[in-house]
Amino acid sequence: MPDKITLLPDNIANQIAAGEVIQRPASAIKELLENAVDAGATEIKLLINDAGKALIQVIDNGSGMSETDARMSFERHATSKIKSIEDLFHIRTMGFRGEALASIAAVAQVELKTKRAEDETGIYIEVENSAVKKQEPIAAPVGTSIAMKNLFFNVPARRNFLKSNAAEMRHIVDEFTRVAMSFPEILFTLTANNQQLFHLEAGSLKQRIVQLLGNNYNAKLVTVKEETDYMNIYGFVGKPETAKKTRGDQYFFVNNRFIKSPYLNHAVMSAYQEMIPTDSFPMYVLFIDLDPAVVDVNVHPTKQEIKFEDEKIIYAFVQAAVKHALAQFSVTPTLDFDLDASIQQLSSIQQPFTEERKSAASSGSIFKGFTQKHQAHFIEKSDKNELKHWRDFYESQETGVGRQESTLKSVDTLPTHDSRLQTDGELTQLLNTYITLPSANGFLLIHQQAAHERVLYELLKTASKDKPVATQRSMFPSTLELTPSDAAVMQEIIGDLQQLGYTIEPFGKNTFVIQGTPADVEAGNEKHIIDILLEQYKHFSNEVKFSKREKLIRSLARQQAIKTGVRLTEREMRQLVNDLFACEQSNATMDGNPTYLEFKQEQLEKMFGK
Ligand code: ADP
Ligand code: MG
Repeated sequence: MPDKITLLPDNIANQIAAGEVIQRPASAIKELLENAVDAGATEIKLLINDAGKALIQVIDNGSGMSETDARMSFERHATSKIKSIEDLFHIRTMGFRGEALASIAAVAQVELKTKRAEDETGIYIEVENSAVKKQEPIAAPVGTSIAMKNLFFNVPARRNFLKSNAAEMRHIVDEFTRVAMSFPEILFTLTANNQQLFHLEAGSLKQRIVQLLGNNYNAKLVTVKEETDYMNIYGFVGKPETAKKTRGDQYFFVNNRFIKSPYLNHAVMSAYQEMIPTDSFPMYVLFIDLDPAVVDVNVHPTKQEIKFEDEKIIYAFVQAAVKHALAQFSVTPTLDFDLDASIQQLSSIQQPFTEERKSAASSGSIFKGFTQKHQAHFIEKSDKNELKHWRDFYESQETGVGRQESTLKSVDTLPTHDSRLQTDGELTQLLNTYITLPSANGFLLIHQQAAHERVLYELLKTASKDKPVATQRSMFPSTLELTPSDAAVMQEIIGDLQQLGYTIEPFGKNTFVIQGTPADVEAGNEKHIIDILLEQYKHFSNEVKFSKREKLIRSLARQQAIKTGVRLTEREMRQLVNDLFACEQSNATMDGNPTYLEFKQEQLEKMFGK
């Protein structure tokens, strides 16, 4: 029998290793950008064609490489950043494993141009399948340009695995944003298919945040800054009013490296407790700096997860720092935030801070602790929760079961056009939220928002190519300027939106024109509606079980439904009730919450002991 074991050739070994480091265009981009940062560049340009599938090029004005280093850089475990295992515990650069360039050279056609300031000429190297194909001196500016073409050209299985251009582009913008966010002192540009998407001048962190996340955050950022011997934290958190329905704008960096940490995220969320609705996410961009020796960045190959020596201290520190920042900002109560009028009227919001509380909040050490209820921004639990309790009460009376099982089952639901239902009966609006409608044995309590959501959902569901929702062309089309990642989302849904009554046309560089909307959208409100729509669509985008169209329909229904707190005329109530009971499934919203509850007189009497 011959022996069976052979050593894998370098190119195959590198291809296998590349699987860990380079999953998609965005991961290669991250590595190349980080190398440019490590090289001390003050200007970094990223060029992309075909969402990185055809070309990714990073041009920097950093240190450049010598001829030997340039050749060496493509070897596996070739790094100038560590020499011993000891170094690993003190590393301050972004790279350290010496695997990125080797991996890239294994799965793409790479062209490197580089020149150091002290050298007469630069060097050009072409690599394919881990082998150098060409090497020659060239004239070049100081710095490095690395172009990688046809990613995964030699690994078809992985190339086929790549997502649509819109999806890959979203990953690219995410990575670019993370690196650009952590180095505001560096100028970054991103050009895709010859169109410049970002031009980020060097500046302060605040300027960078606004450049990347949008002007909405201007004047709505609260500074976080605490320093101790063990660690420092600095950055910004959004004022409570900027909290969104999606998790998007949340960034943690540890020693300038973007990380994902549900644990630290929780620390920030808890600092906001009761200042924002429970289902919304505050914006934050926070940098934690601490001795690299107490962090292990090596636990995850793409380095997004890290381990701290003492997580609990860091949690407490982050939470306290954010609380402190928010308390200082709410010393000046502002009532400008965009919440229901009913919330604005809560006494805790309206009451100004007393002098005493003011000084207590602003002088308090961050570890002293203070209660949020004393703050101007304290918001009572949303009325939705009250509704739930109320429902529990009703249901436990009826069925003897508690909250766990309290869903639709126990609610008496009436078939459509039930003769017992008097849709022409007297309608009353309660609390600007519910509509009562007499039934044969009692009355229905209809939730106006839930009911309208159901009506819109069914209406939109039946819209199709042949039968689109009627569009009303705007007299004054408004333009919509989106962030590049939102623009990518918009491209994804623009066709479906057309069928649903929204005519939106691309107008170059992240700009779109709203040409028409469904007839019932108020003029002047189009932009706002699309903004919220995008937010909600992104909110649903993690729900893999829904198709793109389903997500869109749900977003639209949710967003267009009349809200609680809105006073309805008799005619509007009648219309809503008729529409609701003409629905295929009138008793539940798309999420399975009831649209109405039935109260039977018999049960009510029992409850009164009669
Ligand atoms: P690592 O960053 O972990 O050291 P890489 O494979 O990313 O490994 O890079 C290998 C080496 O190539 C780096 O250590 C660095 O010396 C050199 N290098 C890579 N990119 C650049 C660049 N843009 N400018 C200067 N040197 C670079
Ligand atoms: Mg590197």
